[in-house]
Amino acid sequence: MSASLAETDSWVDVPPGSPFPLHNLPLGVGRRTDGTVGAFVAIGDQALDLAEAAGTGFLDDSPAEYGLLDAGGTLNGFAAAGRSAHRALRRRLMELFTDRTREAQLSPLLVPIDELTMVLPIAVGDYVDFYSSLHHATNLGRLFRPDGEALMPNWRHIPIGYHGRSGTIVPDGADIPRPHGLRLVAGGPQYGASNALDIELEVGFVVGAPSDRGYPVAVADADDHLFGVCLINDWSARDIQAYEYQPLGPFLGKSFATSMSPWIVTLDALEPYRVEPVEQDPPVANYLHATGATGFDLYLEVLVQSETMRASGSEPIVIARTGFADIYWTAAQQLAHMTVNGASLRAGDLFASGTVSGPIPGSEGSLIEQSWRGERPIPLPDGTTRSFLLDGDRITIRGWAGSDPGSRIGLGSVTGTITPGHLTTTEH
Ligand code: MN
Repeated sequence: MSASLAETDSWVDVPPGSPFPLHNLPLGVGRRTDGTVGAFVAIGDQALDLAEAAGTGFLDDSPAEYGLLDAGGTLNGFAAAGRSAHRALRRRLMELFTDRTREAQLSPLLVPIDELTMVLPIAVGDYVDFYSSLHHATNLGRLFRPDGEALMPNWRHIPIGYHGRSGTIVPDGADIPRPHGLRLVAGGPQYGASNALDIELEVGFVVGAPSDRGYPVAVADADDHLFGVCLINDWSARDIQAYEYQPLGPFLGKSFATSMSPWIVTLDALEPYRVEPVEQDPPVANYLHATGATGFDLYLEVLVQSETMRASGSEPIVIARTGFADIYWTAAQQLAHMTVNGASLRAGDLFASGTVSGPIPGSEGSLIEQSWRGERPIPLPDGTTRSFLLDGDRITIRGWAGSDPGSRIGLGSVTGTITPGHLTTTEH
């Protein structure tokens, strides 16, 4: 159905270049100016309150839960309902937004998006962060282990990942207090503020239908367990990370904050933008072997605005542009790998791609790569340079599917601002 509809078939006025055209219909949770919270679907620069739409009978051929938030104000219950439910809601919303006889009834239920404060759409259960960009893993290997092989011998055989901290996943706009901890200073561990605060540009995948413990999800069935896609900034303190990461991997250098974009773009909206993934060499184990267009043709950008730029009215600048189509390990492989040992999935689990970097300068998804740990500082319009983030710096990650500006599916954006952070009371 969606392929036969044009944007102009909708009675909702969608501005040209909007990230949320008729064929997107991402879902999110927003707080209105009166303080009430609702589940919304975005179209153009407006959002429809799904509970109000359901309450007035417009979703009457869909299960009642379509319009309803969980008691906790999240979309977890709807995510758990699985892809057939997600698809049915999408189909129904497309009918409503293209049926001009509905305009008079439904348009009063539309709210300007800029009147909503978006909150986390999901109560995130388990959070896993992967390390699946070949270019990123190669760059980090060279930086952290200059005398060894850039890639560990297992890297091309399994999607490397670690369990992160779901309790510090924060919504769009949240401040990021600078973390403190032990870093190596003059050869010894010393407590203090991180001097190497960094970003990681990542794509997040939200789990929908759960799976049973003891039963691995086959790579070919992975999509049945996915609700949708978002953007992730995996803030990272490189100095804390460098001291702690061996032998068990990232811990406090990563767990202080992870920003998540507010709108979940469903898998069905991204179907036209599926691509064949890169060829894997050597061949992977059978349980990771997938066929067909299992990748996503996404485009991603990092923007920076320092406090000085903000004060002088200077717009954020793009410091990195990269693509997701050549990620080495796909979301389907990551999901199959996460469950191959029998670990179960819950609706609202989140896993992220790992930093997305490309092969050329300006396509790195972290500052440590782009500045090569300070050797090539990044110039800003205020006359300063950055190797790592300073207090007051504001980072925005944005992304979309498709290379044609006329028919993009936007992932929206996620922003966070660095604040000075706090010492432990024993260190005052
Ligand atoms: Mn990461």
